[in-house]
Amino acid sequence: MCQHARLAIIGAGIVGCSAAYHLARKGWRDIVVLDQGPLFETGGSTSHAPGLVFQTNPSRTMTRLARRTVALYTSLGGAGGPCFYPVGSMEVATTPARWAELHRRRGFGESWGLDGALLTPAEAQAKLPLLDASKILGAYYVPDDGIAKAVRACERMARAAEQGGAVFSGETPVLGIDVQAGCVRGVVTPGGRIAAEQVLICAGIWGPRAGRLAGIAVPLLPMQHLYARTAPLPQLAGEAREVAHPILRHQDRSIYFRQHADAYGFGTYRHEPLPVDPAAVPSPAIMPFTPEHFQAGQAAAADLLPALRGAALPYRINGLFSFTADGFPLIGEAAEVRGLWVAEAVWITHAGGVGEAVAEWMAEGDPGLDLHECDLNRFPAHALTPAYVRARGAQQYREVYDIVHPLQQMAQPRGLRLSPFHRRQQEQGAVFFETAGWERPQWFSANERLLDGHGGPDRGGWEAREWSPIQGAEHWAARSAAVLFDLTPFTKIEVTGPGALPLLQRLCANQIDQPEGRVVYTSMLNHRAGIMCDLTVTRLGPDRFLVLTGGAVGPRDLTWIRAHLRPDDRPVRVDDVTSMYCGVGLWGPRARVVLGPVCADPLTNDAFPYFAARAITIGTMPALALRVSYVGELGWEIYTRTEYGLRLWDTLWEAGRPHGLTALGVGAFDSLRLEKGYRLWGADLTGEDNPYEAGLGFAVRLGKGEFLGREALARFKAQGPSRKLCCLTLVEAGRVVLGKEPVLDGRRVLGYVTSANYGYTVGCGIAYAYLPLSHTAPGTPVEIEYFGMRHRALVSEEPLYDPKGLRLRT
Ligand code: FAD
Repeated sequence: MCQHARLAIIGAGIVGCSAAYHLARKGWRDIVVLDQGPLFETGGSTSHAPGLVFQTNPSRTMTRLARRTVALYTSLGGAGGPCFYPVGSMEVATTPARWAELHRRRGFGESWGLDGALLTPAEAQAKLPLLDASKILGAYYVPDDGIAKAVRACERMARAAEQGGAVFSGETPVLGIDVQAGCVRGVVTPGGRIAAEQVLICAGIWGPRAGRLAGIAVPLLPMQHLYARTAPLPQLAGEAREVAHPILRHQDRSIYFRQHADAYGFGTYRHEPLPVDPAAVPSPAIMPFTPEHFQAGQAAAADLLPALRGAALPYRINGLFSFTADGFPLIGEAAEVRGLWVAEAVWITHAGGVGEAVAEWMAEGDPGLDLHECDLNRFPAHALTPAYVRARGAQQYREVYDIVHPLQQMAQPRGLRLSPFHRRQQEQGAVFFETAGWERPQWFSANERLLDGHGGPDRGGWEAREWSPIQGAEHWAARSAAVLFDLTPFTKIEVTGPGALPLLQRLCANQIDQPEGRVVYTSMLNHRAGIMCDLTVTRLGPDRFLVLTGGAVGPRDLTWIRAHLRPDDRPVRVDDVTSMYCGVGLWGPRARVVLGPVCADPLTNDAFPYFAARAITIGTMPALALRVSYVGELGWEIYTRTEYGLRLWDTLWEAGRPHGLTALGVGAFDSLRLEKGYRLWGADLTGEDNPYEAGLGFAVRLGKGEFLGREALARFKAQGPSRKLCCLTLVEAGRVVLGKEPVLDGRRVLGYVTSANYGYTVGCGIAYAYLPLSHTAPGTPVEIEYFGMRHRALVSEEPLYDPKGLRLRT
């Protein structure tokens, strides 16, 4: 056993092997991979999975990870058979809702570069003769999906990594992780301590236990999952090929199928979730098979494939694998322990791509693709608690094959984070959606009385779900009178001390060295000039800055800033003060008239210009006001101590009532911001988009001196962009799309919709998309595919509303 390694990987399942393989290919020599089980049938999830790979996923990132995985497994040559059988996949519909959903899936599959097709029942049966075509309305077919031979792939990747110098050690449990002064130093095994500069946890369902060895949370839920294989079927007699039929999903009954030569295998999610306490995961990770949880699935399986009726099931397994609260993996370096990395809750479908991304991240400082949905550090504190992970993880299991609307809300746990205005919002009939635990009004039923023709065109079907015409009425109130919007969920970060300005200058692309009382809109970039954070920085004093960013992205942004602190920095503190302050947006043409009578301070353009911040007094409350607006109207963001919150709301509400002040929900807020072309991080902006492509060149100061990403950014500027974020307006009245749809020129996919909504003021559907330069001129016609229909759209000058920004400066 070696005593020192550059990297110790815990776990030789598919994820650990993939990471070792990719790092070895990058020239990392000194890697040790430790597994408690025998190599490579370790007894972990990888040993028990039948290996179905369906690449289509609503998430672009997950689809891309799957595509990279298929490419990798396909490339792993060697004697003893392939690691991937590209037999194709079919997802069948037995209900009209599912059939519509398959059209939608094919749409986003196309957006992400998959070459899927919709089949008639007869076409589906021609590909899979065991299928009862009379039971289905059609199928979604992806030709390069298939079956992964995961254990074989582990072994091949391990052998290749060994040639690069990696050492794999089976039956070597890691009993401890040595952490000193916030840095990882090594691992402890029964054979002694191995000093390691970095440690990567790929322990699958044992992840929470491995994390605890280093004092970090790995928020996943081990879940039981049942799979069975039939005895040989007469219909497949003589079939010697391991698999030739496409893999199959019958999501309306939560079942999936694959062929095993002359037999068939199937697994089911059609039972109540069966979670396992992370502290009690057995090794090997198998539980007793429980027929009562399999029966419903088995009956439905035989209904679709009659050949399975009455078939004996000689092989039955109840294996364990991981679910997370939001269904995404957990990838990245732990915020609390430098050098401790995690790659957890990853399916075989994604493990090749995840290993590659982790290797890239560890070796180059950046994963090379947008991984924000999978970021280990994305969770607020409550989302790390076992109770939360259990409740949400179980719900993910239940919904794994459901038709889930992008705005569909989880029922539990709810009510975790309430702003001080919550009571008032309830009184106005708020319909609450949840973000990062915060209950946020999406619209207010009380505003129904304002509808008066402002609700926009009638909607039916998918785009009418999780929506109300009241959003149009609230939108109109913001444009014509004044609105009050709850900003409490925004993440508020104070950066203070002599090192504050140098730190922010180093991280921000815009000029932060401004006079006190200035608000700066800026990006923070990675070294490839991709936008990692999109936020405002307000200088409150010589050494004091307030960073404001979205509620959902806050934990990530905070981690990003802290991760760039250096030991030789001048003293600096980075504090999350989100809970200390609540806030409202008071916006609209009458915002000044509302605020004036209750504010002791001057609010004129001279005294309080656009993008200024001032300490003000509202009634008896000290507050900080920023003259900025994400909705494109005159107004202020106003923050005060949380305990003053209710009084702040009531004071403004009283003052505003005679002027038509209206509570504004997130639904209307989003359509207001799209009319103004304001970008949303995570949708319009990611670590793969640079400010010039994203239309944010105005918020960059290349001349200010060094900052992270500057070199790459200067290169991009010199080259000029090859694509641009464009505003598209839908031509036909009343059309809306929701996001992720492919944007086409004839048959060619040009891009996909990053954000979409209806513009109630401009009177048309709006969509944003990155398009190649050839298609960015205003007036260029394109099409957006929505549930299989083509909607005509035009590239339009942006912003659509108040392009000169006069209303903001009035
Ligand atoms: P594992 O394979 O569990 O590897 C983790 C390794 O870490 C284990 O070998 C374990 O021994 C080791 N380890 C843990 N703790 C320690 C320690 N302290 N010291 C040393 N070693 C340690 N996915 C698909 O994509 N398609 C499918 O069709 C599919 N079907 C499935 C069906 C079933 C029945 C099951 C159970 C899972 C299925 N999955 C499927 C999920 C998939 O198997 C897993 O998500 C994947 O294998 C996880 O890989 P991993 O490397 O993270 O974990």
